[in-house]
Amino acid sequence: MIPLVNIKRDHEPIKEKLNAAIQDVLESTVFIQAVQVAALEKEFASYCGTTQAIAMNSGTAALQLALQGLGIKEGDEVITVPFSFFATAEAIVTAGAKPVFVDVHPKTYTLDPEKLEKAITAHTKAIIPVHLYGYPADMEQINEIAKRHHLAVLEDSCQAHGASYLGEKVGGLSDAAAFSFYPTKNLGGCGEGGIITTNNDEVARKARLLRAHGEHPKNTHHCVGYNFRMEELQAAILRVKLRSLDRWNDERRKNALLYRALLKDVKEIQLPPDDDPLTGTKQVYHLFVIRTKERDRLQQYLTEHGIGNAVHYPTPIHLQPAFSHLGYGRGSFPVAEELMQQLLSIPMFPSMTAEEIKEVGRKVKGFFGG
Ligand SMILES: *Cc1c(COP(=O)(O)O)cnc(C)c1O
Repeated sequence: MIPLVNIKRDHEPIKEKLNAAIQDVLESTVFIQAVQVAALEKEFASYCGTTQAIAMNSGTAALQLALQGLGIKEGDEVITVPFSFFATAEAIVTAGAKPVFVDVHPKTYTLDPEKLEKAITAHTKAIIPVHLYGYPADMEQINEIAKRHHLAVLEDSCQAHGASYLGEKVGGLSDAAAFSFYPTKNLGGCGEGGIITTNNDEVARKARLLRAHGEHPKNTHHCVGYNFRMEELQAAILRVKLRSLDRWNDERRKNALLYRALLKDVKEIQLPPDDDPLTGTKQVYHLFVIRTKERDRLQQYLTEHGIGNAVHYPTPIHLQPAFSHLGYGRGSFPVAEELMQQLLSIPMFPSMTAEEIKEVGRKVKGFFGG
């Protein structure tokens, strides 16, 4: 049995450091948004090359408060992709605005800049490209269009900690970015967590206020906010794990290279998009996702043969019941709708061995009769 992810094995080399960090917080009896959270914010901002980072209790909260920090409010439209985790569009609604979808590119599975301009209206205020599966969206073109129309850009970086574009890390490529620390993400906590990165002090100030009851200083509430604070235990754990992030991403990239070598001759499969030297794109393989017309049968075969797998995502967001009132339907976004039937995630985690990758490769090839 080869699982899709193996957090236990990934943690093995840093187990003692994790235990020590947890013990320190237990001893301190300070559990909510204090010194560990402040230190994580400093370290993560520095990692992404931004001046500010604002930690909170989920990536979904980070998306919402980044939007509110950027001034998004009721009556605004925010453009994003229909092919992502549901929370990307959900945060637009909880920030008070209306999601407007633009299809993804068939090669990169990220926002297609060619289709972006047609979706912009007088109400459009922001764009959320998603660095899906760890592959950076086409930020140069998206930023250029945003600038021309005076729109804010928020990177959904929840799957791309450490990926880079034009030689710079995601998180600092636009007005703001939101990251998730959900346990299976490239940088995952032992529970929920998220963070905003930005170089905009006003966005940071608003997000900090909204994160904890609009309160500053203590007992003065400037606005009605939320309780989106991060726990000290999560911050302490994430600080330990942040020191391994680059090594883990290198291991993911090495694993991907081996998959590519093993599967390159299987003509029924399209491999994930490659790094792009033209745009300095360096991806971090949050997932290793293959594309095939035989997806459902391949999935069943791999499951029967003990190979972990999953579909990210079986239903594009515009076809979710929660968004039926927006008026989209089947055929609205043909690329996303085809991808939902053809993509399959196969095992990918840093501590995966070459033997395991070869075994997965053999099973995939075996299915196609190779
Ligand atoms: C995980 C994820 C989120 C939400 O993050 P949570 O921490 O689970 O709230 C948002 N967008 C994308 C693309 C994600 O993968």
